[in-house]
Amino acid sequence: MPDTMVAEKPVLRDGVATYDAIVIGAGISGMFMLYRLRELGMTARVFEMGTDVGGTWYWNRYPGARFDSESWTYGYSFSKELMQEWDWKEHFSPQPDTLEYLNYVADKFDLRRDMQFNSTVNAAHWDDEAGTWTVTLASGQQAKSRFLMTAVGILSAHTLPSIPGRDSFKGPAYHPARWPKQKVDFTGKRVGIIGTGATAIQAIPEIAKECAQLTVFQRRPNWAAPLHNAKISKEEMEQIKARYDEIYAYCASTPMWFIHQPDPRKTLEVPQAEREAFWEKLYAEPGFGIWLGNFRDIGTNEEAANALSEFIAKKIRQRVKDPKVAEKLIPKDHPFASRRVPLESGYFEAYNRDNVTLVDTLKDEPIECITPNGVKTTKQEYEFDILIYATGFDGVTGAFDRIDIRGKNGLRLKDAWAESPRTYLGMLAEDFPNMLMVLGPHTARGNIPQAIEHSVQFQTGILRFMQEHNYTRVETRPELVDEWTRTVIEAGEKLLSSKVDSWQTGVNRNVEGRQVRRVLGYNGNGVQFRKKTDEVAKGGYKEFAFR
Ligand code: NAP
Repeated sequence: MPDTMVAEKPVLRDGVATYDAIVIGAGISGMFMLYRLRELGMTARVFEMGTDVGGTWYWNRYPGARFDSESWTYGYSFSKELMQEWDWKEHFSPQPDTLEYLNYVADKFDLRRDMQFNSTVNAAHWDDEAGTWTVTLASGQQAKSRFLMTAVGILSAHTLPSIPGRDSFKGPAYHPARWPKQKVDFTGKRVGIIGTGATAIQAIPEIAKECAQLTVFQRRPNWAAPLHNAKISKEEMEQIKARYDEIYAYCASTPMWFIHQPDPRKTLEVPQAEREAFWEKLYAEPGFGIWLGNFRDIGTNEEAANALSEFIAKKIRQRVKDPKVAEKLIPKDHPFASRRVPLESGYFEAYNRDNVTLVDTLKDEPIECITPNGVKTTKQEYEFDILIYATGFDGVTGAFDRIDIRGKNGLRLKDAWAESPRTYLGMLAEDFPNMLMVLGPHTARGNIPQAIEHSVQFQTGILRFMQEHNYTRVETRPELVDEWTRTVIEAGEKLLSSKVDSWQTGVNRNVEGRQVRRVLGYNGNGVQFRKKTDEVAKGGYKEFAFR
C-alpha cells in the first residue's frame, strides 16, 4: 500500500491540464520528486520520454551495464521499509536488477498513476504574468504548472560520433544509451565498437565472449581499475540491512558521499614501499577505493598522480600479454583519476583474446569515414555486421539544451548558459522562476542517488516553506548566483581533472559549441555542500526571493 498522500486531480484551465508541478523525467530523480510532491499534497505530472520508469537504467541496457558503485549505497534511503524489503543480489548491481528495483519502487508507491510515458518534452515556457510554466510535448499536447522540476539526468543526452558517412552503415548500429529491449545476438558476428569510455569498458569483455570478431576503435585510452564484483549472500544482505543507518551516515560524511574516505596522508610523504603496498591493497579491493580512498592529494598533485599512474600502468602491462597493445591502452595525456575512473571486469584481459583487435585511431590509423560495410581508416576498410557507437554524452547541460526552456522575457536557457551555467547551488537558475533542478549544473554530485535525494529534500523543503507562507513564486538572488558561480569555479581550480577534456569539463567534439572546457559541477567537498544547504534551510531560505 503506498504510504504517500493522494494528490488531488489537476485543474483544467482553457482546456489545458494545470498541475501544481510538472516533472520532466521518470528516472531516479523524477520518481523521488513525485513521491515528495505528493507528500506535500501537490498535484503533479511526470512526463517521460521512455515507455516506463528508470531513466539511465531504462535506456542503458547494453551488455555489461551495471553500477560501479556499491549497490547497498546506491539505492533510495528515504523509505526504511523499502530498504528492508529489497535484496541486492550483487555488490555492483547489473542493469536488469537495477531496473527491476526501480520498477519495484514505482509499484510500491504507485508512482505510475501520475506519470505519462512516450512523452518527450520539447518546450517549457514561463509566463511571468500568470506565474505558470507551459510545457509542450513532441505530440503537441500542452500542460501548465506553477512549478517546473527538471529531473533530466546528467548523462542522458547521448551523442553519436561526427564521423562522415555515420548513417550509411547498412547493418544495425547502436548507441549503448539507446540499446534495444530485445537481446542483441552477437553469435558469429563481426562487431566494431567506437569509443573506450566507461560504457565501452563494461561492454567490450561481454561482447568479446559472444561475437566472432570484435574490433575496438580507441581514440584516447582511459585509465580503469578492477571492479571485483561478487554476489551478495542472504546472510550478508541481512548484515547490510542491519547497518543501513550507519552506512548512509558514513557516506554522508565523505567528500563524494560514497563508502570511500580519502586517506589523510599525502602521497609523496609516504615511503615508496609503503605507498605501493597501499596501492596493491586498494587495487585488490572492490569499488572506487583506488580512486576515492586513495591519498588525499592524488587529484591535485601532478607528481602524486603520475606516481599512481605508473603503478596502474604496471598493472596494465602485467594483464595485457602483447606489450604493444598494453602500451596503446595506457593513457599518456592525463593521469589516473583526472577523468571519472571506469571500473572494469576483465577489460584488459579481453585484449588477450584472439577475436579482439585494438585499433589506435589517434596515432596509427585515424578513422576516415563510416561506409555501408563498416569503418574505413587511413590504412584499411574494416567490415562489420554490427557497429556500436559508445561515444558518450553531452554531459550535464546537454539534456537541458535539448528542451526549449524559456524564462523571464523569453530568455532561452541555452543562451543564458552559452558560456557557463549560472545557478544557485545548482538548483535554481537566474531568470527562471519556479524552475527547480535536480542534479542541475554546479550542484554537488558524487554518489548520484544520494545527491538526488539530498537535492529533492532541499527543494521540497523550499516548497513546504512556500506553502506555510502562502508564497507562489521563488527566484534566486543574482548576487548569490554570482557568488555561487565563483565558488564553483574556485573549487575546481586546483583539480587536475579541470585540465583534462571530458564530459565532466563539458568537452564533446561531436556537439557544436562544445569544444571549450566549462565548469559543470561543484567539485568541492560534499560535506560542506550539505552543511551549506542545511544552513540555508534552517535560516528560512533567506537566500531566495519569494513572492
Ligand atoms: P565517455 O566516457 O565520454 O567516452 C566516450 C568515448 O567515445 C571516448 O573514448 C571518446 O574518445 C570516444 N569518442 C567520442 N566521439 C568520438 C569520435 N567522433 N570518434 C572516435 N571516438 C570518439 O562516455 P561513456 O563511456 O558513455 O561514459 C560516460 C560516463 O557515463 C562515465 O564517465 C560515467 O560517469 C557514466 N557511466 C557510468 C557507468 C556505471 O558503471 N555506473 C557505466 C558507464 C558510464 P575521446 O576520449 O578521445 O574523446
